[in-house]
Amino acid sequence: MDWQKEDLKYIWHPCSQMKDYETLPPIVIERGEGINLYDINGKCYKDVISSWWCNLLGHCNPRINAAVKRQIDSLEHVIFANFTHKPAITLCQELMKVLPEGLCKFNFADNGSAAIEMSLKMSFQYHYQTGHPEKKRFMALTDAYHGETLGALSVGGVDLYSELYKPLLLDVIRIDGPDCYRCPLGKHCTGHCESENMFKGSSALPKEAGCNCECFKNAEEAFEKYASETAAIIVEPLLQGSAGMKVYPPLYLKKLRELCNKYNVHLIADEIATGYGRTGKMFAFNHAEVSPDIMCLSKGLTGGYMPMAIAITTQEIYDAFYDDYLKGKAFMHSHTYAGNPLACSAAIEVLKILREENIIEKANKNAVYFNKIIKEKFLPLKNVGEVRSIGLINAVELVKNKETKEPLDYTKRTGYQIYKKALEKGVLLRPLGDVIYFNPPLIIEKDDMDLVTDIALECTRAILRDTVV
Ligand SMILES: *Cc1c(COP(=O)(O)O)cnc(C)c1O
Repeated sequence: MDWQKEDLKYIWHPCSQMKDYETLPPIVIERGEGINLYDINGKCYKDVISSWWCNLLGHCNPRINAAVKRQIDSLEHVIFANFTHKPAITLCQELMKVLPEGLCKFNFADNGSAAIEMSLKMSFQYHYQTGHPEKKRFMALTDAYHGETLGALSVGGVDLYSELYKPLLLDVIRIDGPDCYRCPLGKHCTGHCESENMFKGSSALPKEAGCNCECFKNAEEAFEKYASETAAIIVEPLLQGSAGMKVYPPLYLKKLRELCNKYNVHLIADEIATGYGRTGKMFAFNHAEVSPDIMCLSKGLTGGYMPMAIAITTQEIYDAFYDDYLKGKAFMHSHTYAGNPLACSAAIEVLKILREENIIEKANKNAVYFNKIIKEKFLPLKNVGEVRSIGLINAVELVKNKETKEPLDYTKRTGYQIYKKALEKGVLLRPLGDVIYFNPPLIIEKDDMDLVTDIALECTRAILRDTVV
């Protein structure tokens, strides 16, 4: 059977112009092992983007496989209202050992966007039920990404996804967030990056240009003006993924925590992409040593095995919903697959593996090497504006002009050409526009780091030669 032809007969793939599939038909994957994916012809692809950032510990990880197999023979799913099961309870107990202080109530959903919707509704309802019905708006940063459903899309700020739908979206207060590569204030972060591997930008500006998050004044101004009508601000802590793996310092989160306390505005942490060691610590908020009021988890939560998400919140928020039934204060939000036991069993095993195999510690050691070779290989290129990194995540931003940081002409689709070329050579990159990035499973080894960066470099060079004049 011609599987590619059959696929295109039926399937509408996510986040794709289907016409592109005429020249790049879908790759039919049969099995996975570690960072490798194998197609039906046996060709290997190195999955250095963790299959959209969710695969944490390799494909077909033997321990997670075994955990799911054990679970499936006793219970696949059960309604989660009035019923519960050991895997969900155990997962909460395990998470309590690693979560930032104060987060202790777990509301389950089945995908990241749903957890975002849930947090927004939860925050609004909290204020409504504590005497502030006027707090019904949300704040978010420029270049934010929080998912694709209408509420999540509303707080998102990447035009590629949301522009067309604006007539349908909530009226969100947009704050000009940190933009460290193209800082409008001409600052350069040097001072407050605890983790050795954070913030190794390429532009070697003098120390006096060091930043103290001066751009935070944009948030202060917005709070002064709008906090009284605002329920919550939502952020992707330290790393704006879909915006091109843009990194900003923990100090920004610290300041935001203080501001939120001052104005009775919830701080929602979208840790869907940053959680589970991606930034070098268990959660990105750990770098700032403060806690959000609501934290959303998904992606790495199940190691990339199963669709599951959780919105985790505080006793204080939970208590505002707790009353006699007829008071009508309950949170009447549900998802059919909430708390799925198979997903919970994978998620429990993920936490055990992280702990027992010192995964994050090992990944942090490898991250120093990974960042070093990526900088050595890519920075000399005329069209590489910056290499930025946090944890094992590294991004290479291609520009037309290194000095002015002018972007490449997006109509040339340079990133997409590099993607296609790298696929031919067995590396799955999927750049964000003209930002090539690596966000591999935490278990990647040095020989694979050498291999994928060599191929990425070769493809980048070749395409730049053809497309950039
Ligand atoms: C992926 C992602 C989401 C959305 O999760 P889905 O499961 O794709 O709905 C939200 N926020 C961030 C930061 C993400 O990376």
